[in-house]
Amino acid sequence: MAKRKPEDRVKDFDEVTLGLSDEEAYYEANRCLQCPKQSCISACPVGALIPTFMKAVKERDLAKAYQVVRQKNRIPAISGRVCPQESLCEEECVLARVGQPVAIGAVERYIADYALKNGLTKEVRPGEEERKKVAVVGSGPAGLTVAAEMVAKGCEVKVFEALHRPGGVVLYGIPEFRLPKKIVEQEIDSLKRQGVEFENGVIVGRTLTVKDLFDDGFDSVFVGTGAGSPKFMGLPGESLNYIYSSNEFLTRINLLKAYSFPTYGTPVKVGQKVVVIGAGNTAMDSSRTALRMGADEVYIVYRRTRAEMPARKEEVLNAEEEGVQLMMLYSPVRFMGDEGGSVKGVELQSMELGEPDASGRRRPKPVEGSGFLKEADTVVMAIGNRVNPIIQMTTPGLATTGEEGLIKVDETYESSIKGLYAAGDVVLGEATVIEAMGTGQKAALSMQRKMAQ
Ligand code: FAD
Ligand code: SF4
Repeated sequence: MAKRKPEDRVKDFDEVTLGLSDEEAYYEANRCLQCPKQSCISACPVGALIPTFMKAVKERDLAKAYQVVRQKNRIPAISGRVCPQESLCEEECVLARVGQPVAIGAVERYIADYALKNGLTKEVRPGEEERKKVAVVGSGPAGLTVAAEMVAKGCEVKVFEALHRPGGVVLYGIPEFRLPKKIVEQEIDSLKRQGVEFENGVIVGRTLTVKDLFDDGFDSVFVGTGAGSPKFMGLPGESLNYIYSSNEFLTRINLLKAYSFPTYGTPVKVGQKVVVIGAGNTAMDSSRTALRMGADEVYIVYRRTRAEMPARKEEVLNAEEEGVQLMMLYSPVRFMGDEGGSVKGVELQSMELGEPDASGRRRPKPVEGSGFLKEADTVVMAIGNRVNPIIQMTTPGLATTGEEGLIKVDETYESSIKGLYAAGDVVLGEATVIEAMGTGQKAALSMQRKMAQ
């Protein structure tokens, strides 16, 4: 897919990728072999009907293509941009064995963008079968998928969101240059038109409880509160000024538009030498955001090697093209500050890879005596997030699992409380947009089956 030039795109927050042209989409759809075994579908967490929508694109019937996409995917313009297709459907595409797989993600995005531009999303109508009331807590990809599935069955659906705008991580975490807010808003507007009601600024567990929701007459409650609590390493000096969690850093800039301060009321200070700790999508987003905020030098510090980086390869490449420098096999030991309490450097030590650990990845271990000082006036900790714990703490009888307190669900995604379902990151731990959607879809189908009994 064509992209803007690095030297241009690094100056603003506009989208980097440009989407497929009509002819490119047609070309890709034509390459699809319409395989009888359809390994691409089996690899997709929502079971997207890939060969069928490819056939519709090939026939240049984009209205039909959109109809097919929506059968399994309720927010395709979002997932088409950020889903790790290269390790899901595209990895399993038979053409990948002999060369390039069909560009499935890019074609999905092409169809979804066509639908948004041409008003096709306005034609989606709610179903009329059920008259049950469903509360959805959290408006990330899991919550939005459940809301869309339930309203399509004719349920009355109300989404409660803690922040002042709905969308979850795809709104407040993933930057505009990867996923424009306009696209997220358009997908949400389409749900509103179908009758989904949104109430923002409601923290379930504080403003009201899960019990209040059942007492208010909701037949089912779905919890999709994600993993939005930052993790730190507990190193000396970690609370110095200008050491941010990636959450705070990205939320201030993306959601609260700190890049337009003082037009918008939230400032954020980004210095000239930025060190980002971590190597996932969050680290890539933080480093590329720091460049756009005017930093001269931005380094990604990671304790393993490039081969183990959890970020999407495409995003690592984009970051490098824009000037982010990768420092592999290093780990922070402590942070140093100036007399005013602001960070001025980080002591790094070299690492080497030892025997594989439980995850199968080689365990990094420090190289004795290798410590050195790396100057930095801004540090972003992008080492992952924990689940939001408020509902678990305020809902008696709700079973959790693991150290982190993930909500425990059975195979139907029902929790230990009857009628309370959960999916997405709050059940899986940090996962992906499409996994949040896939588990949300399964939870919604279980809720529908229960209602029909
Ligand atoms: P979330 O998206 O976290 O949404 C949960 C929502 O619930 C939030 O809006 C939150 O405010 C709300 N909430 C929380 N507690 C309450 C409460 N008590 N009451 C009411 N509302 C509440 N995945 C990819 O597939 N591709 C990527 O490129 C990618 N990049 C990422 C970049 C960043 C910076 C981050 C942080 C994550 C990224 N991910 C990516 C992961 C992906 O975004 C998540 O896996 C996905 O958003 C999880 O969806 P969810 O619906 O479970 O939760
Ligand atoms: Fe088409 Fe690839 Fe799926 Fe076969 S595996 S149907 S070629 S997308």
